[in-house]
Amino acid sequence: MPVLIRKPGGPAVAARFETAWSEGTSAGTPSSVSWAGWKAPARGAARSGLFETCANPGCGSGWLHLWRSRSAPVFEGGWSCSADCTSACIESAVRSELEGRWRAQESHRHRIPLGLVMLEQGWITSGQLRQALDAQKGAGGGRLGLWLVRQQGVSEQLVTRALGLQWSCPVLPLEFHDAEALTVLMPRLFVDAFGALPLRVAAGKLLYLGFEDRLDPVVALAVERMSGLRVESGLVLGSLFRPAQTRMLKQKFPAVELMEASSQPAAVHVLAKAVERMRPVESKLVRVHDCLWLRMWRRVQIGPLPVPDSVQDLICSIGAH
Ligand SMILES: [Zn+2]
Repeated sequence: MPVLIRKPGGPAVAARFETAWSEGTSAGTPSSVSWAGWKAPARGAARSGLFETCANPGCGSGWLHLWRSRSAPVFEGGWSCSADCTSACIESAVRSELEGRWRAQESHRHRIPLGLVMLEQGWITSGQLRQALDAQKGAGGGRLGLWLVRQQGVSEQLVTRALGLQWSCPVLPLEFHDAEALTVLMPRLFVDAFGALPLRVAAGKLLYLGFEDRLDPVVALAVERMSGLRVESGLVLGSLFRPAQTRMLKQKFPAVELMEASSQPAAVHVLAKAVERMRPVESKLVRVHDCLWLRMWRRVQIGPLPVPDSVQDLICSIGAH
């Protein structure tokens, strides 16, 4: 049997939540794609339990399951009649996530080097670029943009604008950042380790996600699929990003369990166990880099964001096969 290791740390208290952004958008030009076939978590769907069909296509309980008195758990919009059926549904979801059906676009697209973008725009001279590159080489690293700012006196705004051109994304403002209200969107790990900063939700359907110097399309896609919100990624001025990230990390996030599974079947086991234990009214699974992110809703989500204290996350990394 594969061995599961429970990682220490992680359990956090769920977030308190008051208001969400609901007015119109103010920044950027929407450019992300919508994902065909994706359905937002079921909202307000009443479940009678009696005439429901088990979501497991291989369910063997036949009409007997109609007498089983359970209306939960629900995984990806489908009710399962038994622990075995939950496990079968999760196994199929894990397989499809790991096979990479949802591969984020653009992760390996060739980008014009930052220095060339700035040179082309006339924002720096070739002398400034050469000196910054020499300094970078001499110091054995460091981001070129930082060298241009620190050593050549280039404005940080221009460097961020150039990064925006390089990534074909907008530079996003940070005004009215209600960090506390947005922590329900994702586990703390995404803000901390992946540097993704939820900035605001506009018109109840569009989430602005800020990054410091490079986008993470994998994280953006995962959040888009999980939240049902369209995600618009952009860059934030470094000097604003860091303090905002630190502020956000001090807020309360949804409760999370971090697990490590030694194999795919071990991951299915731990995820199915969590769903059976909590019996959520909805749950979803998405892949984020080398992890699987399971989110479980205790209560039906009515608005664009989950009700505080109503969601629980499980992040499962899969070790070498
Ligand atoms: Zn079944």
